[in-house]
Amino acid sequence: MERTIGIVGGGPAGLALADDMSRAGWAVTLLEAAPELGGLARSFTFGDIRIERYYHFLCSGDTGYFRKLHELELDHSLCWRPTKMGFFYHGRMYPFSSVADLLRFDGISLLGRLRYGLLALRCSLSEDWRALDAVPAESWLIRMLGEEAYRATWYPLVITKMPTRSCWSCSWSFPTPMKSI
Ligand SMILES: Cc1cc2nc3c(=O)[nH]c(=O)nc-3n(C[C@H](O)[C@H](O)[C@H](O)COP(=O)(O)OP(=O)(O)OC[C@H]3O[C@@H](n4cnc5c(N)ncnc54)[C@H](O)[C@@H]3O)c2cc1C
Repeated sequence: MERTIGIVGGGPAGLALADDMSRAGWAVTLLEAAPELGGLARSFTFGDIRIERYYHFLCSGDTGYFRKLHELELDHSLCWRPTKMGFFYHGRMYPFSSVADLLRFDGISLLGRLRYGLLALRCSLSEDWRALDAVPAESWLIRMLGEEAYRATWYPLVITKMPTRSCWSCSWSFPTPMKSI
């Protein structure tokens, strides 16, 4: 007898699960409330191109995503582009893509910059985000960077992106933006 499963939500998680389950031989019914699939990672048509609904980035450590792309034979459609980051601070745009940029960022003390660089180095050398999954990110970042560097760099991002910041896990801040330097 065919095994059946219903999956609620056609965002990335529901779609990936639906694909896994159907490959494993299940008959899948995917229930999606929105008119289009994709969840928060949806895109929309703008003129003659598709644009993501919210900005999204991939990191080289997003191995699950690459695995799924490969299974879907879509890996050829992924192309990596060099990107640059800027940091708008006190009315001025600072380049923020390299160690040299960090050292030149005079919005924080030299000690703050050095601590930031050391933490970025530590994050880029380690893949073990699991150990930090249950650690609240804000207090960890303040401990690692110092209050001054945290307030200048992370805090503006946190108050706009993380409304429930007490639930914000280190495992998010660890592999992503800290590796951008
Ligand atoms: C501004 C922003 C930037 C982001 N940037 C990144 C990034 O750079 N890199 C990254 O990896 N991630 C990023 N994310 C996070 C990423 O979009 C989410 O982690 C991902 O979309 C979660 O997938 P999901 O399937 O768990 O949930 P969702 O994407 O939320 O999908 C859930 C789906 O379930 C549907 N649904 C909910 N309830 C029901 C119901 N009762 N019946 C039927 N359907 C239902 C919803 O309509 C939705 O389509 C970003 C998110 C935002 C908001």
